Amino acid sequence: MTILAIKETEAFFKVLDESSELLKEALATSYLDAFIESGDNLIDGHVQVEDGRPDETVVQQLRGLYDSVDLNEMNSETVRQGIQLAMLKAMREDDIQGNHQLTPDSIGMVMGYIVIRLVEKQNHLSILDPAVGTANLLTTIMNQLKDATHEQVTAIGIDNDDSLLSVADISTTLQKAAVTLMHQDALGELQIPEADLVVSDLPIGYYPLDEKVTNFKTHAQSGHSFVHHLLLEQAMRYVKPGGYGVFLVPSQLFSTTESKGLLSWLQEAAYLQGLLALPKDLFTAEQSAKSILLLQRHGKDVKQADKVMIGEFPSFKDQAAFSKFIAELVDWELNDLLKR
Ligand code: SAM
Repeated sequence: MTILAIKETEAFFKVLDESSELLKEALATSYLDAFIESGDNLIDGHVQVEDGRPDETVVQQLRGLYDSVDLNEMNSETVRQGIQLAMLKAMREDDIQGNHQLTPDSIGMVMGYIVIRLVEKQNHLSILDPAVGTANLLTTIMNQLKDATHEQVTAIGIDNDDSLLSVADISTTLQKAAVTLMHQDALGELQIPEADLVVSDLPIGYYPLDEKVTNFKTHAQSGHSFVHHLLLEQAMRYVKPGGYGVFLVPSQLFSTTESKGLLSWLQEAAYLQGLLALPKDLFTAEQSAKSILLLQRHGKDVKQADKVMIGEFPSFKDQAAFSKFIAELVDWELNDLLKR
């Protein structure tokens, strides 16, 4: 990132942050709700006032802040990164639980880099994220793919949390990203076309509605099923045959007693092409460590790679080791995974 781009991101974050702080105080809400109010003001081009709140002094302060940004001049990465900074503050201030936290772009970039060579050169690429949250992961990858392949990239994002989806709406609107957002349980019936690629940072834990998932092969034999197992199965139903799914999953995915059902579904539906553990120093505890899982849906002319890519990323801070690991990954993709 250039110094100019860093300055622009910081300036945009300052506007988002100061306006959110003003609204948080004036409306007595959480930082996240104040951010959503502020983002809507910015998009609508006027300050929403209800029952005399915020008062005229605050309205004037907000107008001054909004007038200092030129949305047409800002590129999508500046917008995304400014919003990412505000969301990181919201996560801290409002103590938002892990399953609702955004996916930082350090991880998104790595996931994007893994798929760059795997999405076929075509005029249009469609992506699905069934747990889109704030759309930070989705738009990190979309922006990266647009830069690398110059393709037209569109996406569908689904989430059952309306606050996070409001943030996704603000972010994708300001980035002018072609994303259709759907507020629903991603494990319900989805009226969407099959995508070329699925990406997702899956929520982890139990899914409470047992009767709704009896037709899933990954459902538990008794009691609640793991939502991350069910979502893997669901997501791979909505990618085209031969298409890839790249997911952020618990590193312990295949070492729990519940993984039996997951493995038997996997054998029938998709090839496990890679499982790459993220650096340990990104996580506070071993149980919370995550990995990137690369699946490919069964289809014509696709096969299990001769060597499954299993490994562990070195620390992102160790640039030399990191570059070496990426070079090995690219070599594996070109000379094994993509070899016919
Ligand atoms: N990648 C996202 C981002 O960058 O903001 C963060 C994803 S977060 C780790 C997991 C998301 O899954 C949360 O936004 C949560 O609301 C959503 N979620 C949990 N259960 C869901 C379900 N049954 N259907 C759809 N979304 C769900």
